[in-house]
Amino acid sequence: MRRKLIAGNWKMNGLLADGVELARALSNLAAGEAPNCDLLVFPPATLLMTVGGVLSSGPIALGGQDCHGEAGGAHTGDIAADMLADLGCSHVIVGHSERRADHGESDSEVKAKGQAALAAGLTPIVCVGESLEEREAGRALTVVANQLRGSLPEGGSPVVAYEPVWAIGTGKSATPEDVAEVHAELRRVLGEMRGAAAAAETLLLYGGSVKPANAAELLGLEDVDGALVGGASLKADDFWGIARACP
Ligand code: PEP
Repeated sequence: MRRKLIAGNWKMNGLLADGVELARALSNLAAGEAPNCDLLVFPPATLLMTVGGVLSSGPIALGGQDCHGEAGGAHTGDIAADMLADLGCSHVIVGHSERRADHGESDSEVKAKGQAALAAGLTPIVCVGESLEEREAGRALTVVANQLRGSLPEGGSPVVAYEPVWAIGTGKSATPEDVAEVHAELRRVLGEMRGAAAAAETLLLYGGSVKPANAAELLGLEDVDGALVGGASLKADDFWGIARACP
């Protein structure tokens, strides 16, 4: 049985005081109630240490928003996976569509990042998702299947997040039917790549304008094992509302 995971991607938002305030609010909510899921937040790198300190005694885990594909060296401005582990991170997002778009990250680079994460003892959350043009051309399943084949690291137990690019930060979520279809395809491809047992154990998250109002329907789908939440993760009550929607 896969336990659901609700993960909040804070993206490039928040100064120290904002991060502390949000982490404290989440910590207080967690002290009062245990939702039926695992919880994880991805603050910006500048806040990891402080937010990690606030969350350290509670159930909310910490992750990095990206890591480099190499273990260390001359890569100005980048962060190695073991640096994240050193700060108490358990997870790292790799291949988020904003990084694929802003930094031109290819599937093979994303795979190297995932591999580096596993080598550092982190669980990578590997993001895939089609653009609006690709969906309208009827290519969504092919695109995400190819991204998965090219981006998934070997070994370990990576998490996969399906995030249609057109649904991220737009307020426009994919329909439950579309999500169910893509997740079933991802699970099928995972079976081809890793075998049936590993595919059945892999967590498949959905991301793209998840909010308290649509969470129950999306999280109730058979192959949806949780959510990667952007905008709504910046408000403690909204993030909690999504966590609470886990069946
Ligand atoms: C994301 O960035 O991973 C995301 C899903 O964002 P939003 O929830 O804001 O669409």
